[in-house]
Amino acid sequence: MPKYVYDFTEGNKDLKDLLGGKGANLAEMTNLGLPVPPGFTITSEACRRFLEEEALPEGLEEEITEHLDALESRMGRRLGQADDPLLVSVRSGAKFSMPGMMDTVLNIGLNDESVHGLAKQAGGNERFAWDSYRRLIQMFGKTVQGIDGELFDGALEELKGGRDDLELDAADFQRLVTTYKGIVKDQTGEDFPADPYRQMSMATKAVFESWNAPRAVIYRRQERIPTDLGTAVNICSMVFGNWGMDSGTGVAFTRDPGTGHQGVYGDYLQNAQGEDVVAGIRNTISLQDLEGIDKPVYDELMKIMDKLENHYRDLCDIEFTVERGKLWMLQTRVGKRTPGAAFRIAVQLVDQGMIDIDEAMTRVTGAQLAQLMFPRFAKDAESKVITKGMNASPGAAVGKAVFSTDRAVELAARGESVILVSRETTPDDLAGMIAAQGVLTSRGGKTSHAAVVARGMGKTCVCGAEELEVSVTERRFTAPGGVVVSEGDVISIDGTNGAVYLGEVPVVASPVMEYFEGSGELGDEDELVQAVHRIMSHADASRRLEVRANADNAEDSARARRFGAQGVGLCRTEHMFLGDRRRLVEDLVLATSSEEREQALAALKPLQESDFTEIFQEMEGLPVTIRLIDPPLHEFLPDYTELSVKVALAGDRADEKDRKLLAAVKRLHEQNPMLGLRGVRLGLVIPGLFAMQVRAIAEAAKAVPGARAEVMIPLVGAVQELEHVRDEAQEILAEVGVEALIGTMIEVPRAALTAGQIAEAAQFFSFGTNDLTQMTWGFSRDDVEAAFFSKYLELGVFGVSPFETLDRDGVGRLVLLAVEEGRRTRPDLKLGICGEHGGDPDSIHFCHQAGLDYVSCSPFRIPVARLEAGRAALIGAGSDTR
Ligand code: PEP
Ligand code: MG
Repeated sequence: MPKYVYDFTEGNKDLKDLLGGKGANLAEMTNLGLPVPPGFTITSEACRRFLEEEALPEGLEEEITEHLDALESRMGRRLGQADDPLLVSVRSGAKFSMPGMMDTVLNIGLNDESVHGLAKQAGGNERFAWDSYRRLIQMFGKTVQGIDGELFDGALEELKGGRDDLELDAADFQRLVTTYKGIVKDQTGEDFPADPYRQMSMATKAVFESWNAPRAVIYRRQERIPTDLGTAVNICSMVFGNWGMDSGTGVAFTRDPGTGHQGVYGDYLQNAQGEDVVAGIRNTISLQDLEGIDKPVYDELMKIMDKLENHYRDLCDIEFTVERGKLWMLQTRVGKRTPGAAFRIAVQLVDQGMIDIDEAMTRVTGAQLAQLMFPRFAKDAESKVITKGMNASPGAAVGKAVFSTDRAVELAARGESVILVSRETTPDDLAGMIAAQGVLTSRGGKTSHAAVVARGMGKTCVCGAEELEVSVTERRFTAPGGVVVSEGDVISIDGTNGAVYLGEVPVVASPVMEYFEGSGELGDEDELVQAVHRIMSHADASRRLEVRANADNAEDSARARRFGAQGVGLCRTEHMFLGDRRRLVEDLVLATSSEEREQALAALKPLQESDFTEIFQEMEGLPVTIRLIDPPLHEFLPDYTELSVKVALAGDRADEKDRKLLAAVKRLHEQNPMLGLRGVRLGLVIPGLFAMQVRAIAEAAKAVPGARAEVMIPLVGAVQELEHVRDEAQEILAEVGVEALIGTMIEVPRAALTAGQIAEAAQFFSFGTNDLTQMTWGFSRDDVEAAFFSKYLELGVFGVSPFETLDRDGVGRLVLLAVEEGRRTRPDLKLGICGEHGGDPDSIHFCHQAGLDYVSCSPFRIPVARLEAGRAALIGAGSDTR
């Protein structure tokens, strides 16, 4: 039988899979000799079994009892013992920290008898005991029994009648206990459970069940956390921060999670317990001020923070409690941070000798880099600053103010940009935060829910905005000076400096973007740009994959070069025929005689040639893969219905050209254009089209010294198709006197399945995973994302769109097969990818593992691809790209 329960002394930080992040780190701190209240952890495996079997797994209850007995004898008290009770907290803790799951129930073990015992323990402090008891009922009622938290909050507010919570006395809290018990009875039909063991067991089951709470499910999907991990449960003996003014609770970071700078960052709240700091019941004081209140505790905390940072070799965040002058550590973990801080901290730690540059590179991600490339607000923005708050999560966000999660989701679904405004957010707001461009709150600081979650998501967030009166019911807020912003009014928030503006503020490029663009000065002052530069240089030195660009013109090619592209991996020639030139393609398709066709081709050729020349010039001898035309015909010909109406309305006066066009469109009309006459098929059907293109490529290459052209044939499914085109292309290249590789895209499943044969006629393969995904799944890439992907994501058919991240199990197998069989035929076969997946972190890791030579992606994604290719080389198989 598996072991389901581990004492804190038995675990360690590497057991996160089993003990969850919180449990593993509590164990680590215990073993480091730090002051952690004794306790034990029930494993996530127990949770998985519980969820599968809908009952506690066999043996679990006995194991819990055994560990509880041991805890009780160690503490010299029994759980909920009337005259001298042991109290415990029950806290969830999955491998990844997950807002939306049940979090914590404190003070388990209290009832009408043991509340007196607790008062006695506290030297007759009745107020403390009754306050603790009402907190238990409140937390238990809300999180374990699912009662609306507002009912409890409302009763508390009513009792306070405008007073501070510190002004309430024992009798007030005792009355509140009675009211709360009434609420529980009303809502559940049953009395609040007085039996301490029943309290603990109900709370444990509730934690297990919260793994599948809707908010947790949304969060996992967003963060791509597997759904089958389950959560561990931590049972920890209670220490109390609400004992009196010599007690308190706080959160701290070993470095600023916004900038990465070392120092003392955190909040502290005297005479308070657990969630009070994040819930914003009173204004917290800064951690620095704790020094003046209790110097020995402050000094000890600083020492511990130092020890933790050296031990974890990273920024740690910490929750602690002071109980009558004694410091207790309740939690630590490697802390979340902004993308900018992630880069800065990684490099700072290298400079401090704590980690090497390899490790620094694994600690940042392409997703973080992408965020650093976002634009910011123009500094000299004239728009009005209406208030300022805390710069909780950086970035520039503009959108319509909305005051509820539902509205945020609704408007975002219509394609509108919104800013979610609230007093403070709760896990219930998760969907709204995901939907919004940014979040603005009027309460709470950098450790509030909004701040922590927004930072984790990379969402812009301004917290605790000054003198902001938010009225959720009236859907508006009032800023200082009486400025009223109602739902739908546009505001702009700056998560980097905390400013809130009325109206839309113009945005400018980020310094990291400027650095990539080559215009950024690499001055000493910009620590962030320096850090990005060092990590990017290391990624370039480490990676095996080359990075190329999908670029169809000189401008994109130039940007791609600035961003570090090592070639063009896909030049889509049909893109060169959009706009004004579309008519020329129409002429070609409509040509009925060889003369007409030749005329049309002759008109196209010089345009093609000059396009290619410009690209070759920009790429200065780097390889340029030019794909012969692949136009799904519907993208090039006029709409059949529209044209029919036009011709019908014109009657006898209809233009001759329109008539001819209509006849042709009718003839060429396809039910499934994506599976129709396109790619190599079109090249084989329209004589002279591919030949014209190859000649244009060859002549352009000849004209640009050092140009390296690669001719790529699209949509090949059989080697015979390729042979026809290749033979003709080789002749033309020889005629012009230019050498160029000739290869094909692998984007039809049959091509992957017959890659061994196709490699006979191809010098390179480039995986067109857009089509390969479309055809492997049998999904129309133009239609399905809007039609049913949200349902599929909801049902968990896949955790992420296969058009975004390569589907390793299906499409990936075809890629692996084609790599293997292609290379068997032709050992020096060059292999790349040019579908959208070429810029997606997880897919890049797959490409590295599959042994491809390069990835090709849009110019803006090149830095991300360079970084992830470096990380893939280092992290190796089975890597986690989150
Ligand atoms: C592909 O199919 O992956 C590809 C790159 O080609 P396109 O997107 O142009 O069809
Ligand atoms: Mg394609």
